[in-house]
Amino acid sequence: MLRRLLRPAAPALWLAMLGAVALAARSSATNPLGHPPRPAGKITITWLGHASFLVVSPGGTQLLLDPWLRQNPSTPDSLKDSSRYHPAAILVTHSHFDHSGDAKAIALASGAPVVGSYDWVQTLGLPAAQVMGLNVGGTVKVGDVTIHAVPAVHGSVPDGRPMGFVLEFADGRNLYDTGDTWIFGDMALIQELYRPAIILLNVGGGPFTENPQTAALAVRKYFRPNVIIPMHYGTFPILASAADVRAAFRGDRRLKVMTPGETRVF
Ligand SMILES: [Zn+2]
Repeated sequence: MLRRLLRPAAPALWLAMLGAVALAARSSATNPLGHPPRPAGKITITWLGHASFLVVSPGGTQLLLDPWLRQNPSTPDSLKDSSRYHPAAILVTHSHFDHSGDAKAIALASGAPVVGSYDWVQTLGLPAAQVMGLNVGGTVKVGDVTIHAVPAVHGSVPDGRPMGFVLEFADGRNLYDTGDTWIFGDMALIQELYRPAIILLNVGGGPFTENPQTAALAVRKYFRPNVIIPMHYGTFPILASAADVRAAFRGDRRLKVMTPGETRVF
C-alpha cells in the first residue's frame, strides 16, 4: 500500500518532503529561544551578540555563555529579557560587565548555577547550590557536557581571573570559547588536550583584546577546527567590524560570521 502510494506520487512527494526539511532548517535558524531548536545529535549555537551565546548540546543541555543582554547594544530586543532563559548552567569567562552583566539576574530567575572563576562566583551572593567555582585546569559536568577551564590572557578585576572554556560533548566533539584572550603559546596545549572542532573566537580588537589578524594567526598556528565563529566585534564603533573580520580570514570557509540572534546547527 505504502509503495503504491509512494510510486506514482514520488517526485511530487519528495519535493514536498524536501520543502518541509528546508522550511524546518530555516525556522530553526530564526527561532532560537523560547523553543530552542534541539536537533538530536547536533550542536546548536545561537549568538546573542558580543560574547554571549546559547549553546545546546547534542543531548539537549542548554548552556548560556557570558550573558550580557539588557545593556548590550548588539542583542536584539526580543532576546534581552532575562526571564526567557532557562539554561542548565550559566558560564562566565571573567567578571567584566560585557561578559557577566546578566549572569546573576538570570541565575536568580532560572535557578541555574553559575560556572566561573572560583573567586568571582563567590561574590555573587547566590545560594550554594548555584555556585560552581572553577579555576584553570578544573572540570565540572553539567548534563551531558563536561566543562574544562583553560587559561586566557586578559583581566578580571575586581574578582577572579580570566579563563576560556572547553565544552566536551558526549559525541566526542569539543567547543572552545576563547574568552577575551590574546594569542598565547599554551594554546598549543589546548589543541593537544582537546582538539576543538568549533571555536568561539574573540576577534574584537580595539583597546581591549586581540584584533582579527592576531585571532586568525592563533587559529592558523595552533588549531585545526572545522568551524570558527567570531565574536566580541561590532558591538561598539571602537571594535572591529564584520568586514574587518572577513578580511583577516581571507576567504577561510570555516569562518561562520553570524548575525546577533541567529542560530546555526553543527
Ligand atoms: Zn570583553
